[in-house]
Amino acid sequence: MELRKDPITRSWVIVGDETEKPAHAGYCPFCPGSPQAPQTIATMNAGAGAVSAMVHPSPLYRIEGEPSRRSEGVYDAMNMVGAHEVLVQSVRHDIELWQSSDAEISQFLLLAAQRIQDLKHDLRFKYVTFFKNYGAPAGQDFSHPVSEITATTFVPRRVLYELRASRDYYLEKERCVFCDTLNQEMRENLRIVETFGGYVALCPFAARVPYEIWVMPRRHESSFERSVTSRPAHLAELSALIRRTLQRVMSIGEAFHMVLHTVPNTYQKSNILQYWKTVDEDYHWHFEILPILAAKAKPYFLKEVYYTPVSSELAAERLRKLAVR
Ligand SMILES: [Zn+2]
Ligand SMILES: [Zn+2]
Ligand SMILES: [Zn+2]
Repeated sequence: MELRKDPITRSWVIVGDETEKPAHAGYCPFCPGSPQAPQTIATMNAGAGAVSAMVHPSPLYRIEGEPSRRSEGVYDAMNMVGAHEVLVQSVRHDIELWQSSDAEISQFLLLAAQRIQDLKHDLRFKYVTFFKNYGAPAGQDFSHPVSEITATTFVPRRVLYELRASRDYYLEKERCVFCDTLNQEMRENLRIVETFGGYVALCPFAARVPYEIWVMPRRHESSFERSVTSRPAHLAELSALIRRTLQRVMSIGEAFHMVLHTVPNTYQKSNILQYWKTVDEDYHWHFEILPILAAKAKPYFLKEVYYTPVSSELAAERLRKLAVR
């Protein structure tokens, strides 16, 4: 497998001939005492509430080596160098994030932030993030409650679009486009699902799927990992909002994608991408949660125009009314 760049859209794509992945012989690799446990990288809060980061049993990216960016005529390619870790959210096989206590979710978010910061010290990596795929339609890989971290030698396409757009907006207005959007949303109060302390959950104006929700800090912060590790006192509020938001998501569907969008690795100053000069002022971290509703799904891949048959206003209204604890 290798990374190839589409010369027209400039998106990096993973291309290659996949080899069969080894089957797990009946054991959950992430339950305590598993004979097939992968290598542990970090653990927090030992005991019943432990969360840990482990090497992914079949990683997409390999930590060793250099990206060896190369040209093949007009084309660009590079090796699949990066990090791919599994964040084990709980030692319990049957407790998901939205069933956990705020203290457990806080531990998990803190570990995620620490892993992102740690991986950013590796200057080969331009972008580090974590995501969760829940449910078979979302491509969930393991039955144990986990999330995944990836560190890549490129910035993924959507984040790059966001970074470029945020920088352009800032150069014109000297304001953060996310803060401006958030201020208008708070005034209008049409698409807000819930505010909790310093955080807000809302349905974006141009949602890509029904009930799409973003969770973000109300004050301007560019880096999730820096904010979480420097001000852990605010974690309980963020944890409660994530727990309550996922409870809402799970009462309208059975599967979702959740991804963190945060600043790229600014230790790695890219002169070509130019995003790093004002990134702390213009970019604003957020989680994007995309529920998968089988009945509402329409294929996106050829038309490349999203179709959302439930308006963000109606989605927010319905989500607000759902009972959460
Ligand atoms: Zn397990
Ligand atoms: Zn902002
Ligand atoms: Zn985003």
